Amino acid sequence: MKNLGWGIKLQVFERAEYICCYCGIDTLVYEQLYGRRYAASIEHIIPRIKGGTDDLENLACACLCCNKGRRDRDINDFKRYLEERDNEMVSAQLRCQRRY
Ligand SMILES: [Zn+2]
Repeated sequence: MKNLGWGIKLQVFERAEYICCYCGIDTLVYEQLYGRRYAASIEHIIPRIKGGTDDLENLACACLCCNKGRRDRDINDFKRYLEERDNEMVSAQLRCQRRY
């Protein structure tokens, strides 16, 4: 499995403005506040094992937390996981402030 170059990662992160494609947090802010768990990472929209490529169109920015959570869940399961996580997060407010 070849690793993606830093260049392409940066392109993906910058295109997404470091916003997680799943939970919508600003990973730059969250990483500062809550640590590596929320750092930006590369997510394959179609997983590589299912034939997804390393092309820009198949890559998205996701926080590590979502990236890990997504791994072996189907999409509904994953949504529930996000909701539960959201409830736990004191910081939901921060996200709202940023967005509106
Ligand atoms: Zn996320």
